[in-house]
Amino acid sequence: MNKKFVPRQDLAGLKPYSVPKVSAKIKLDANESPFNLPFEIISEIKSEFDGFLFNRYPDPLSTGLKRKIANYYGLSEECVGVGNGADEIIECLLLAYGGRGRMSLAFEPTFSMYQIISKITATEFISLRLDNSFSISLDKTISTIKRFKPYLIFICSPNNPSGNIAPKKTIEEILNQTDALVIVDEAYGEFSKQSVVDLLGSYPNLVVLRTFSKVFCLASLRVGYMLADSEIVTELNKVRLPYSYNSFSQMAAAKVFERRDIFDSFVEKIISERERIMKALREMKGVYPFPSDANFILFRTEINSDEVFKKLLGYGILTRSFEGDPLLENCLRVTVGSAEENNEFLKALERITQE
Ligand code: PMP
Repeated sequence: MNKKFVPRQDLAGLKPYSVPKVSAKIKLDANESPFNLPFEIISEIKSEFDGFLFNRYPDPLSTGLKRKIANYYGLSEECVGVGNGADEIIECLLLAYGGRGRMSLAFEPTFSMYQIISKITATEFISLRLDNSFSISLDKTISTIKRFKPYLIFICSPNNPSGNIAPKKTIEEILNQTDALVIVDEAYGEFSKQSVVDLLGSYPNLVVLRTFSKVFCLASLRVGYMLADSEIVTELNKVRLPYSYNSFSQMAAAKVFERRDIFDSFVEKIISERERIMKALREMKGVYPFPSDANFILFRTEINSDEVFKKLLGYGILTRSFEGDPLLENCLRVTVGSAEENNEFLKALERITQE
């Protein structure tokens, strides 16, 4: 019989996104915040419940949240795009600016969604390798841009999973060499000293991507935003499903953003814990951490990292291991947790490496 519901052949190799089905006492695998929302913000969110219009569709343009974000950055509201997680914004950018016959470029190893969503949107994906210290080679980038003329270029800074930033000078140099959309993914920007937000006025092709999933403790509600020229935001809104971003998330994110100063102390705690873990890892035998400007640390182990991963899990600690990329051989990524969680992690790793 002729099968009518044949899926797209170009997606045959894709696997549904999945997370490991393991329950661990200490979860340091997904770069989330170890802290829940502060109690006072939860109370404010609760107080909105009584009059909440569950029966009405959300505001498709997230006007209230957008206004708050725009005011904070001193931009006009038309320069802010809000989405159901930064993931959705990446999808919309690829829908609007990629597609069949167009190409996107990223620097690997990096966040896997640039490649996955390129594939889903039928955008040809090419990547340049980062060097051994996870830096972008400017010469190779410029010649690749000239040769392949990508429509979108993704720069993840700080980069997931390596943790380092792309220097602002490198990003500016790339912006000077291309008319492509240059998307600087600053999902971990709050943990680093650098942002390219101040370049927005000078480069109409620059998009800065941010999320509420890390510092702002809202991974569960899926909130991301981008800052860009208003024309790009308009294109994004053309391809985004009208009600993709629900009213509850809009309201909660607006409350969080109003009180963003509360989160400064979370950032400070995470950075100081990151530096403490870094120092301890540097002192551990057979463990080699890479510098980080994010809320996680990538480290290489002398012994097989799969073994280390499993043994850490035996101690109830979930980290992230990587397969297939030579630059990530025997590497694990650990999210900075609470001080207690980090102590448990360091204690377990020390034991494992001394066995
Ligand atoms: N960009 C990077 C670099 C990320 O690591 C992540 C999440 N892991 C995202 C974007 C997606 O963020 P969100 O939760 O807002 O979809």
